[in-house]
Amino acid sequence: MTRTYWLEHAWLGTHVEPGVAVDTKDGRITAVHQDADTPPPGAEILRGLTLPGLANAHSHAFHRALRGTVQVGSGTFWTWREIMYATADRLTPDTYHALARAAYAEMALAGITAVGEFHYVHHAPGGTPYADPNAMGEALIAAAADAGIRITLLDTCYLSAGFGQPPNTHQLRFSDRTAEAWAERCSVLKERDHARIGAAIHSVRAVPADQLATVAQWAEERRAPLHVHLSEQIAENDACRDVHGCTPTQLLALHGVLGPRTTGVHNTHLTAEDISLIGGSGTGTCMCPTTERDLADGIGPAVALQNEGSPLSLGSDSHAVIDLLEEARAMELNERLRSRTRGHWTAAALLRAATADGHAALGWADAGSLEPGALADFTTIALDSVRTAGALPRLGAETAVFAATAADVRHTVVGGRHVVRDGAHTLVPDVPQALAQAVDALRA
Ligand SMILES: [Zn+2]
Repeated sequence: MTRTYWLEHAWLGTHVEPGVAVDTKDGRITAVHQDADTPPPGAEILRGLTLPGLANAHSHAFHRALRGTVQVGSGTFWTWREIMYATADRLTPDTYHALARAAYAEMALAGITAVGEFHYVHHAPGGTPYADPNAMGEALIAAAADAGIRITLLDTCYLSAGFGQPPNTHQLRFSDRTAEAWAERCSVLKERDHARIGAAIHSVRAVPADQLATVAQWAEERRAPLHVHLSEQIAENDACRDVHGCTPTQLLALHGVLGPRTTGVHNTHLTAEDISLIGGSGTGTCMCPTTERDLADGIGPAVALQNEGSPLSLGSDSHAVIDLLEEARAMELNERLRSRTRGHWTAAALLRAATADGHAALGWADAGSLEPGALADFTTIALDSVRTAGALPRLGAETAVFAATAADVRHTVVGGRHVVRDGAHTLVPDVPQALAQAVDALRA
């Protein structure tokens, strides 16, 4: 099927171009015509600033159920984790599907066209496999289809509570007992048009060192993305040093986990040598600034990582909010607070993290740009909302990154299909209600 879109303003990677016609066939861009002052006959008109679709490179869909409730009281990442585990205990394939469908619909409304789901709630409580051992992963893949977005299911190996410690009661359902059993289960998962399969190591706490290479090899054989939570907490670094005499990054390097298809998530508390190992190996960095600030993690050295060669991507992780524009500006604004200087990233660089580099981190190298051959995934930001009105269109990227929010997303197109039109989801009729019902079903 062929279709032409007329973009009132288009972000072409380096600048905003007014009046661009984009031809598509079977969900891919076939031609990009600049100087299209008026819409060609029959074209779908996208008013505002159209970007390539946004990639949410790090998600735990079920954390959406925690929003608000985890803001009562004080504590740390570790006390927050207890509340998170209580919700994980209550998930079933059906309730997980309902919640993920609603959360992914919220993502579509926020202009997100692809999500990286870091998925570790594999089995029934206590660790008994479901009749289909991938029932939970399949629920997530189906949820993404129902919400109209792409998914990379980053099936996560999670075997231990800490170095040399068996999984606790909550973690039993995360564990396949060995990395080999994890690999066997994951090998059954099938890719689909909207779904790719990748791997994840939950953290160096959760996968014994002598099993890290099994996960890395599985990803290597499939040329699949491999993600890992890395040095989000100082306690993880301390425990790793006590047991292995090195940092988590050094341990990953030693066991062949780092490389251009690998993404470290958070990369918060790193030594200078860690930064060189990550950057020098081409390992990516997924920053999740709204979660990192919510959980009082600290501010990761994203500038230094990028300078050493680590491509940056962005994720909403715990879904304290789902807003990739906020993630993008938060990365820059955190750095401003720390350094007391401005302009560490241009709006173009921040958009690159939110689009092309985010997609690449999820194994969708053919998405994230408005050019022939790319997937026809678009996000259109209103330039006439109360937040964005008055900006010069040629500064549309700066306006989108530094002033717009998810509420300004007017259209989301995935593979040439309008998933969000004029701010309304076309597949999930009432997203707030779907969220409320799905969250309510998980309350104790
Ligand atoms: Zn995470």
